[in-house]
Amino acid sequence: DIEKLSDLEKMGILGQGGGGTVYKVVHKKTATIYALKVLLLDRDYGSIRKQAAREAGILKRVDSEYIIRCHAILDDGFSDMAAKSGGKCLCFVMEYMEGGSLQEVLRARQRLPETEISGFARRVLEGLRYLHGMKIVHGDIKPSNLLVNDKGEVKIADFGVSRVAVGAGDCDSDIGTCAYMSPERFDPERWGGGDGAANGFAGDVWSLGVVVLECHVGHFPLIGVGRIPDWVTLMCAICFGEMPEMPETTSPEFRSFVLRCLERDWRKRGTVSELLGHPFCE
Ligand code: ADP
Ligand code: MG
Repeated sequence: DIEKLSDLEKMGILGQGGGGTVYKVVHKKTATIYALKVLLLDRDYGSIRKQAAREAGILKRVDSEYIIRCHAILDDGFSDMAAKSGGKCLCFVMEYMEGGSLQEVLRARQRLPETEISGFARRVLEGLRYLHGMKIVHGDIKPSNLLVNDKGEVKIADFGVSRVAVGAGDCDSDIGTCAYMSPERFDPERWGGGDGAANGFAGDVWSLGVVVLECHVGHFPLIGVGRIPDWVTLMCAICFGEMPEMPETTSPEFRSFVLRCLERDWRKRGTVSELLGHPFCE
C-alpha cells in the first residue's frame, strides 16, 4: 500500500551505482524501513529506459525468498529527484537488507569461513535455479549485487544488467563488472562454441565461482593481490590464467566446488542443479 513517493521519507544513501542511487527510506504511515532504488531517466539514450523497464519487468515477476523483494514500483512525483531528471524517474521500493552488500561485508571482514560461504553459495544457487527456471539470466552476479539481511541471509539483487548483451561478444567497459564475467562472454569465438551457443545461464555459475573464491582468499582471486588490472590483463586472466592457488587449509569439497564453477568450457561447467547437490553445499 505504498502509492506515492511522498509516503516515504529519505534517511540516507545506501549505495550508488551505474544504474542509479539507492536510498534508505521510511514509510511514514507504518514506520517500516525500505530501500528505494531511484533510476533517473533524463539521459535518454534509449538504453537507460530500456534497462529500467527490463529491471521493473523482472522485479514484478519474481517471487522468491532468495531474490530481493520489490514491494512497489513508482514513477515521478518525488519532487527534488524528479526535478533533477526533468520529472522523469523510476523508483523501486525494495526490502531493506540491513547487512548491506557482500562487497561491504568483505571490506569489513576480508575473508569468510567456509561454512558461511557454503550457506551463501547455496542461497545464490537456489536463487539462480529460480531465475533460470523463468528463463532469466542474471548476468551480473558479483559481491555488490548480493545483499545480506539481519539474519545473515544472502539474496540476489540488481537486475539492471541489460547493459551487456547475453552471450554476445560486446563487453561492458566497466572493469568492476567485467571482472566476474565468464570466458564465453569475453571471447565467444573461443569459449562459446564459436556460434554464440552459450546461453548465459552458465555465466552466472562462473560468476558465483569467482565470488565464493573471493570470499575465501580475501581479494579478487583471478589477479594478484593489490593489483589494479587493466582490461587486457583481466581478460587474459579469465580466459587463460592459471587457477589461483588456495590456502592449504582449504577443504577438498570447497576446492572441487570452485573448480566445477570455474570450468572455462561452459558446456563442461557445473550446472546449478549439479552444484546444489555438491557436498560443499550440503
Ligand atoms: P546498481 O544498478 O546501481 O548497481 P544496485 O541495485 O546494485 O544498483 O544497488 C547499489 C548498491 O546499493 C548495492 O551494492 C548495495 O550496497 C545498496 N543496496 C541496494 N539495494 C539495497 C537494499 N535492498 N538494501 C540495502 N542496500 C541496498
Ligand atoms: Mg549493482
